[in-house]
Amino acid sequence: MLSVIIPAYNEELSVETAGDVISGILKKENIDYELIFIDDGSKDATYAKLCAMAETRENIVGLHFSRNFGKEAAISAGLAASHGDCAVVIDCDLQHPPEKIVEMYRLWQEGYEIVEGIKTSRGEETKAHGFFANQFYSIISKVVGFDMSNASDFKLLDRKVIDVINSIPEKKGFFRAISFWVGYHKTSVEYDVNERIAGETKWSKKDLIKYAISNISAYSTAPMQIVTVLGVVMLFVTLVFGVWALIDKIIGRALEGMTTVIIITIFIGSIMMISLGIIGYYVARIYEEIKGRPKYIVSTQCQSKKK
Ligand code: UDP
Ligand code: MG
Repeated sequence: MLSVIIPAYNEELSVETAGDVISGILKKENIDYELIFIDDGSKDATYAKLCAMAETRENIVGLHFSRNFGKEAAISAGLAASHGDCAVVIDCDLQHPPEKIVEMYRLWQEGYEIVEGIKTSRGEETKAHGFFANQFYSIISKVVGFDMSNASDFKLLDRKVIDVINSIPEKKGFFRAISFWVGYHKTSVEYDVNERIAGETKWSKKDLIKYAISNISAYSTAPMQIVTVLGVVMLFVTLVFGVWALIDKIIGRALEGMTTVIIITIFIGSIMMISLGIIGYYVARIYEEIKGRPKYIVSTQCQSKKK
């Protein structure tokens, strides 16, 4: 059986269409399936729609989060609730072309354990967005050690991989990268990003910046090493100035330069603060992880009676 995991946040306009389109395609191909919708604490009628769908249609599971926990948490909940021999994660707005699920499934039948959905283009976006997205992906590709520039959350995972991912206790994972990190026998399928079928994107600029910083720090401690490098550079600068000041003292030409002192003090001060900030960020993350709070809270769920 194939589990289709569909995170949905304020998607009352698209859940029904998404469900019907995906089940239509899978039925036609005679693929046994379950659709797991994760309502990520929507404020609209998404969950009511899901329950109504479960009443009249088969193979539908709807989970409802107690509040918005984010797409990463929704994917984790979907993977934990899935019963399939493999699972596909797909967006509810059908920006990921659903007919590609069949292609991914066939590759899985051939023996691949992970089938990555790779975007041929990123669809509509502004120049600035494109620039930052490229910077982010080039950093994350370096730290993960794979080219992630066109990676997405649209992918198929074998049961073995799902079990491994479910057993990782990390609270703030990055699904897109974890499937590269785990290894396994993988291949990819290319797809064009569609237009959203309804509603609008759920990500603000601020969300995207937070997401980028959080994901880079989840895979790399390089920023903390920058602190060490800065410290060494500062030590050198101090040595040079120290020797210079001593020579001046010895030959009886002590420094007048108050300006130099001020500049150096401010410079060291700012570097110290930035460094403390970077270390503080990682300490905060350790604290978040160690508190051991759940990634998400499922408050209610509904399910089709006939399976
Ligand atoms: N989503 C979610 N929780 C959130 C934000 C988004 O479950 O907090 C879901 C959303 O319903 C959609 C998918 O994640 O199915 C992708 O979101 P969106 O289309 O807004 O992102 P974009 O395609 O613009 O990157
Ligand atoms: Mg979208």
